Amino acid sequence: MLFKGARLVDPKNKINKITDIAVKSGKIAKVNEEINTNYVSKVFNLSGKVVVPGIIDPHVHLSSWIGGSEGYKMMGKVGVITAVDFAGPIDDIINTINKEGSGLNIAGLDALRPGINISKENPSSKEIEQFIGSSLDKGAIGIKIMGGHYPLTPEATAKTIKIANKKMAYIAFHVGTTKTGSNLSGFKEAISLLEEHSIHFAHINSYCRGLIKEPLKELKEIFSLIQNRNGIVSESYLSRNNGSSGKCTNEIPEMDITKNCLRMGGYPLTKRGLYQAIIDGFAEVIVSANGENVLLKGIKGAQCWLDAGTDTIISFKVNIPEILFLCAVHKDFNNRFLVDAFCTDGGGIPRNMIVEKGLQLIKLGAITWEDFVIKSSLMPSKMFGWLNKGHLAVGADADITVLDPERNMAVMGINKGKVIMIEGMVIGEKGRILTTERGEKKIKEANVDYEIFNLNDCLLYNSDKNVRINTK
Ligand SMILES: [Zn+2]
Repeated sequence: MLFKGARLVDPKNKINKITDIAVKSGKIAKVNEEINTNYVSKVFNLSGKVVVPGIIDPHVHLSSWIGGSEGYKMMGKVGVITAVDFAGPIDDIINTINKEGSGLNIAGLDALRPGINISKENPSSKEIEQFIGSSLDKGAIGIKIMGGHYPLTPEATAKTIKIANKKMAYIAFHVGTTKTGSNLSGFKEAISLLEEHSIHFAHINSYCRGLIKEPLKELKEIFSLIQNRNGIVSESYLSRNNGSSGKCTNEIPEMDITKNCLRMGGYPLTKRGLYQAIIDGFAEVIVSANGENVLLKGIKGAQCWLDAGTDTIISFKVNIPEILFLCAVHKDFNNRFLVDAFCTDGGGIPRNMIVEKGLQLIKLGAITWEDFVIKSSLMPSKMFGWLNKGHLAVGADADITVLDPERNMAVMGINKGKVIMIEGMVIGEKGRILTTERGEKKIKEANVDYEIFNLNDCLLYNSDKNVRINTK
């Protein structure tokens, strides 16, 4: 397979020029200004396009619990090649990927949910160890503490981080405990609970919604807490919409985040208040239509929410544009991004906009093409230790996203040399699970394609800041 005439942007290999790229057996075979077309089975003429290492979205949702399997196609459409499901259950991914996977690579984390998959908010060390072990055995690469949605006590949170680090399981944290919340106080508490351990902080942007101080002051504090600290990796997304649960019990929304959003919009913290927020369009209901999820507001949205017995994902326009922008573009004195990567927290939640928003940031002059690749592919590949991804040197995985800068969109997605998307049409089938050695047995049994990698290589456990990229 030969890609001709596109501009290749590959910061790891210091390439930003028009060049030909040859792919053989799923790997990059040659990168050269002029590759001759003899012996080539397929030639793609891509003049005017930009070729980048396949987009890796490090935080999405694809399970029946959050997001939904519609997310595979929704991601494939916009040029994502690899993604990490950030809540699980991993069994859902294994069950749906062969049917709906759209040709993507997926890794997954399992979230701890007191009362659902663990006994309580303060489980014993033994129970936490068992949870981590069984998650890895099921094919997940680690776990997530969902403090904002399913908080643990501060003690249990600290214990969980410590045990996951000891076992070298991937560990992500949506901050908040039974004592704090999904905000600046939760973030400060998280830093104090960490001690010397490593953590992946989910969606930095979401802790700066002005619940404690002015949003920009909140962000400044968070930046100063993560700057020059080893063992912290993070992402942020670029959508104004968040995602939470609309479920109400006894006429009250269950989730604190849902209540906070209602408070921000000036609505009563009740089922009635949420109903009114949906009618007004401040809240939108996520509904599946033609194999994809869409946002509905007004009477239609409210009806869908009530029909589902209020148990739907709700999206509020609560993210502050300045915060989204700064999380995306801000660099430290050494020219390194403070927030490591772009994510979307999307998948089945309709906000898969890494390419759309990323290319807008380039047009605005806020980031360079190299920066875009660093945040959308290279750093995510380092986060998880996927050494053959995030760049396109000879021998690397032929995971490629082709971008059309004129139309601000991805026009082709390629996973290991297989075309999975052309012009927004997803033609990829099945998918591949990226897992650790411990997950191999389960995934093999399920007859799902997989690839094994080693978490020793991930930035979390290999994270002196030198591994980070100086973008100067
Ligand atoms: Zn999420």
